[in-house]
Order: sequence, then C-alpha cells, then structure tokens
Amino acid sequence: MVLLPKKNLWTLFYILFVIGFSLLLVISFMQYKNVERDTKSELRYLSNSTVEATKHYFMQQETILDILGKHLLEKDGAVNREHAHTTFRNIIESNRVISGLAISRPDGKVQIVSDESTRAKDLNMLKIPGVRSSFKEALNSKRMVIGRVFYDKAIKEWILPAHKAIRFKDKGVVGVVSVALSLESARSIWRSYTQPGSELEIFLDNPKYRIYHSEKIPRKYPYLYTRQIDDRTFYKHEGGEVLEKSGTSFEILKKTAKPAIVSFDTPENRSYLISWQYIPNYNLWIHYHIPKKLIIDKVLNYWLINAVSFFFIFLIVYYLFSVIDRFERRKSKELLHQAMHDNLTGLPNRMYLQRKIDSWIYKEAPPFSVGFIDLDNFKNINDSMGHHYGDLILVEVAKRLEAAMPEGTMVVRHGGDEFIMLCHEYDIDLLEKRARNLIEEISKPYDIEGMEFTVGVSIGISRYPLDGTKLFELLSAADIAMYHAKRSKNSFAFFTSELKALRNRYSIMEHELRNAIEKNELAIVYQPQMRRDGTLHGVEALVRWENRKLGKISPEEFIKIAEESGLMPKIGRYIARQAIEEISSLQERKKISFSLSLNISIRQFNEKGFVDALLEIMEKGSMNPSNIVIEITESLFIEELEFILKTLNRMKENGFNISLDDFGTGYSSLGMLKKLPIDELKIDKSFIETLLVDKESEAMVKAIITIGKTLGFSILAEGVEDEKQFTRLNELGCDLYQGYFFSAPLRLKDLEKFIG
Ligand code: C2E
Ligand code: CA
Ligand code: CA
Repeated sequence: MVLLPKKNLWTLFYILFVIGFSLLLVISFMQYKNVERDTKSELRYLSNSTVEATKHYFMQQETILDILGKHLLEKDGAVNREHAHTTFRNIIESNRVISGLAISRPDGKVQIVSDESTRAKDLNMLKIPGVRSSFKEALNSKRMVIGRVFYDKAIKEWILPAHKAIRFKDKGVVGVVSVALSLESARSIWRSYTQPGSELEIFLDNPKYRIYHSEKIPRKYPYLYTRQIDDRTFYKHEGGEVLEKSGTSFEILKKTAKPAIVSFDTPENRSYLISWQYIPNYNLWIHYHIPKKLIIDKVLNYWLINAVSFFFIFLIVYYLFSVIDRFERRKSKELLHQAMHDNLTGLPNRMYLQRKIDSWIYKEAPPFSVGFIDLDNFKNINDSMGHHYGDLILVEVAKRLEAAMPEGTMVVRHGGDEFIMLCHEYDIDLLEKRARNLIEEISKPYDIEGMEFTVGVSIGISRYPLDGTKLFELLSAADIAMYHAKRSKNSFAFFTSELKALRNRYSIMEHELRNAIEKNELAIVYQPQMRRDGTLHGVEALVRWENRKLGKISPEEFIKIAEESGLMPKIGRYIARQAIEEISSLQERKKISFSLSLNISIRQFNEKGFVDALLEIMEKGSMNPSNIVIEITESLFIEELEFILKTLNRMKENGFNISLDDFGTGYSSLGMLKKLPIDELKIDKSFIETLLVDKESEAMVKAIITIGKTLGFSILAEGVEDEKQFTRLNELGCDLYQGYFFSAPLRLKDLEKFIG
C-alpha cells in the first residue's frame, strides 16, 4: 500500500527522461536543420558571387577581343600584319591572363597568331579537333564562345580558348578573334570562391566538358578536363534526378539562371549538398558540392553541448528524485512501523504479529510457544487512578517484559493490558521457568511519579504445533489457559488437554445452543424471595437448559457462551417472554400479585433495542412494570457508564424496578451507587455462606446493609441456606431473603403448590 507512491515516482522519472530525451532529439534535429539552412543560403550566395565574377571575367576578355577585332580587321577581312603583331605583343605583355591571340577568317584559315614561331598560314581552326566545335559555334554566336581546355605544348601551359566572331554591318562575319586564356589565371579567380570543404566545378554545356575543378588540377588529372562527359553520365552523376525531384531540372535552370540547391547522395553513397547555376551568356555550369559531413561537423558542437546539458540536468533530476525517494521510503517505513507498533509502549502490535507469524511458523525452526499475558485487576488502577498512571504502568510493564525476554523472542502489545510473547522454548520446564520469571518481574512494585503500585499478571501458554497451527488457534488456546490462570491470580497455566476438552465442549455447546429454543430445551424455574415475616415477596426467574448430548448445563456456563456467540439477546428475550407469560397467568389464576425478577446479562443489556423489546413483551402480558425487577450485575459498570445510565433511567421512567445483583463482588464506589437509579441491592451469596464463620463477611454484610439503607434501597440476601443465617440477617436489618432455606428454584407447577 505504502509502496505505491514510490513506484509512481520512478515511473514519473522515466517519463520525464523519455520526454527530455525526445526533446533533446527534436532540438538536435532542429539545430541540424538550421545549420543546413544556413549552409544552403551561404551556398546560394557563393554560387551567385561566382557567377558574377565569372561573367565579369569573361566579359572583360570579350571586350578585349571585340575591340581588338574591330581595330585590326578591315571590312573585307584583311589584317595589317605589322600592326597586329605589335598590338598582340603589347596586349600579351601587359596582360598575364592572355597567353596567345589569333585572328582567323570565317573559313577557319588563320591569318595571324601572336606566337611568331607558328606559321599561321598552315593553320586552320576548323581542322584542329579540340577547337573546331567552339570555333564553329562562335561563327553563329554574337557572344564570345568558350572552348574546352587543352594543354598547349608550344607554350607548355594549360589553355582556356575563347573565340569571338567580328561582324561588320551588312558584311556579316569578317573574321574571328581567338584568345588563349591562361587556365591558371582563370583558376586563381575561381579559387577565391571556394570555402574549405566545398568543391567548385565549372562545365561547358554543349558538349559537356569540365573546365574547372577546385580540388583537381589539370596537370594531375588531365582526363577530367579533356574527356567529354556524355549527357546521361552527367545527369546521373551530378544529381539530375534529385533536381527533378525538387521540382526543377537542368533545362529549367538554363532558362532561369538561378541557383538550385538540393541534397544529393552520390551513386557511391556519399551525401552532399549541391548547387547548380547556369551562365547563359557563356553556356557555363557553376556547380558546388559540400559534404553533409561538414554540416554535421558544424552542428556537432551544439550536440555536444546539448548532450552535456541533458546529462547534467538529469543528473540533478535523478539526484532530486532519489532524495525524494529516500524520503518517501523513510516515511513509508515509518508509517509501516507506526501501523505495526503500539503508540504507547513502542512494542509491535497485533498487526505486526499477524504479519510475522508466518516467519515463525514457516521460516524459523518450530516448535515455539505463545504466551498470553494479562495484567490482573488493571482496570482498578485505571478507574481509581486515571488513565495517566495506567498508561505509565503499561509502558513500564512493556519495558520489563522486553528486558526479561531473551534475544529472538517477540513481545507484542495485544491491546489494553494484554501482551503476547512468542519464544522458542517448548519444554514445559523451561516455559514454567520463563513464566515464573515474568510474573516475578512484573509483580515487582512500580514507582510512578512518586507513587507505588503493584500489578499482578496471569499468563496462558499454548504451544505450536501441539495446540494449534494457526495464529488464531494458538491465541485462543493461550487465552483460554490465561483465563484458567486468572482464577488463582498472579499465576500461569498451560493449554492442557482438560482445557482443550473444555474448548471442545464449548464449541459443541455453542452449536447446540443455536437450536435450543426451537428444540424446546430451555425451561424456566422460579425461586421464591421471602419477606421477614415469611410471606412471598416475589420470584427470580432462572433458566435451565437440558440438552440431548450434553445433559444439564448450568446457566453460569452457557450464558457466557450465549453472550460470546451473540445468541444472548434472542435467548434473553425468550426467557423474559416466557417468564412474564407464565407468572402473569399464574397471578391471574391465583388472584395474587408478587414481583418477578429477571436476570439481564451484560451483552443483552447493552443491546440497542433492549428496552423496546422489553416493553413490547410487557404489552402482551397482563403484568405491571412495577412488578418486574431487572437484575443487573456490578460488572456491567465496567462498560460505558453514560450509556448504561441512560438505559437504566429509561427503564425507571417506564416503571421497572432495578436490582444490583451479586453486590459486594465488584468495585462499585459509593459515589457511583448514589448516581444509579436502583431499588434493591442483592448481597452476593458468597458473603452469606461465610456470614457466621467469617468476621470480614459479617462486616461486609453489615456495611452493605447500612449503605443500602442510607441510600434508600431494599436489601435482599441470596443463598440463605439455614435458619441461623436467616436470624442473623434479620438482626442486621435485611429486608428480603432468597435461598434453599425457603425454597430451591421451582418448576411453575411446583411454584403454584408452594404458593398454595
Ligand atoms: P444469580 O443471579 O446470582 O442466581 C442465583 C443463583 O444461586 C442460582 O443459580 C440459584 O439456583 C442459586 N441459589 C439459590 N439459592 C441458593 C442457596 O441457598 N445456596 C446456593 N449455593 N445457591 C443458591 P443458577 O440458577 O445456577 O444460576 C446461576 C447464575 O446464572 C445466576 O446467578 C445468573 O447470573 C445466571 N442466570 C440464571 N438464569 C439466568 C437468566 O435467565 N438470564 C440471565 N441473564 N442469567 C441467568
Ligand atoms: Ca440473579
Ligand atoms: Ca446473584
């Protein structure tokens, strides 16, 4: 029960952990996306810048070619050689970018070249394989056309060629100016547009040739520059498919000239962020690729911070939770301890006993013994001295019990002034020694706040497995033994075979008692109560039970069982109804009137509808409540006095008489007697029995009579067996007499004869 919140606590922790971890993943993913987005926009910027720079560079060259052509070419296509040579030389010398220049006729025939070692008239541009297509294209284009790169053996340099057709109005193309750009100089421009990790490539469009690769220089990787890339390979290897997936294509990019940026996994399974942008003026593709790993490298720092923060936060949370958990555990342990221990003495309680008994029965090596320890007359101390002293004595008793018991035994407060002990001793001798020792310890005087008390103790002992195999069996056996011990006070008793037989008899009795009324086994006898002058005052109804199996059973024995098994209210009502019916019809027949005394047991009296049930019975008979005497015993006042007084007063209001039975054996105080609405005191027969032989008894009887008279009660002596007793009681001032001297309890018809 108390373990539940603890479990919830850790479930909460795991939920928090999972939520936190999911959050960590989401945040990390978002951070990755952010970096990716930033990288993309950087790339876009880079691509645009590259395009601008490239355009700018080629436009410069184009302008030079344009001016040069217009300057050197006549309208008929003729060239002033001397002039051209000087101009070429000047340009090449002043311009590092340009490695060579040439002017050709539209039919490809070279008119003049800057390199004087070349014999120009033998050259035809259309016949040089690497140049032919770009030259041809230049004839049809208004713009400068860039050709594929090649290695010029003559000048020992990689060259980027470009051609520009020179037109004159209404003459068309009169010649073509070609330039050999130093590839290295162009590379130096593009090189500044790459960032660490990113790679830039530039391609001619149709046919496709690479003219630039940021990482791979032509000297080392010539085939990358000299081999034509067919369109299919280009599409496949350069991300044509992902471009289309993202809603664009090489064709669209050619028209828009804007950069497109997509993620691309190469056929070799490498992940890249790539960009494509087209320069229509010069039919060039600008292409970047950045490995995704680079993005991850950038974001890794964030992730590290995330992970470390997460770890620390959860370390703290874990710590807090374990603190709470430890606290809860301690609390629940305390609660459990509280629930299983007695507040006053700190001893384990009944609940503890119930929980731990299994370990005695199954785990610890049986056999073992159970002791039922009950203080004698403890109620008196509580009643006379108040609960404060009672409590302090109980605490002291608990201490002594614990101190007297060896290690490995269990001492439990069973409630009130009852304690239970479990010990491993089994031999009668050892147990006797143990019991004697306990009695001796507990009977030693108690010094409580300067006052001295003595307390007796009765111990009943049962043994496992001899007297029972379950806790309740062992307890009830020890309890029975304890009651047996109680008779002699300050002593102990074992649950003997006689007691066992008694217990069996009790259980049979209880069983038989259930049907006693139905089987008509209950009968009532009446014992006359006489006045001083020998006339009949009344009768006391006394129940008799004769059972087929058990024979005659004394009411003293079976009334107790009827009370314990809850049968008493039913039996009590039966007796009252029967007695009232029988006596009222007898009185009617005999035309006389005398009182009828009914014994009311404690349980019966405390029953809720007791007075109502009595009134209901009265309605049926023809007797007046003033002729009914309700006999209650002193022991009744151990129970709640307020409630009892209320019931007594209600009965008085209804006209019933009340008699205090067995008076002198209990502990009613004078103060209490004054409060009670009673009419009669019945001196217990034990005093009458010894009246003539025991001075103390006589003194007691005298005192009762004096007190009773003072308070205005009538005094009845019961158990008067001979004339001497009667005479003495008479002298002492007793009013009424009951006993064998006058008559034993009589059957109804014998009572009728007795009345005469
Ligand atoms: P009690 O109320 O004190 O009843 C008086 C007992 O003394 C009766 O025993 C009676 O037979 C016995 N007795 C009468 N005269 C003499 C005598 O001269 N000498 C001796 N030694 N004894 C005498 P009984 O009938 O066995 O009843 C025992 C107890 O059982 C009663 O004590 C009463 O407490 C209880 N009891 C009997 N009948 C009823 C009943 O109907 N209802 C209740 N609740 N209890 C009853
Ligand atoms: Ca009685
Ligand atoms: Ca009595």
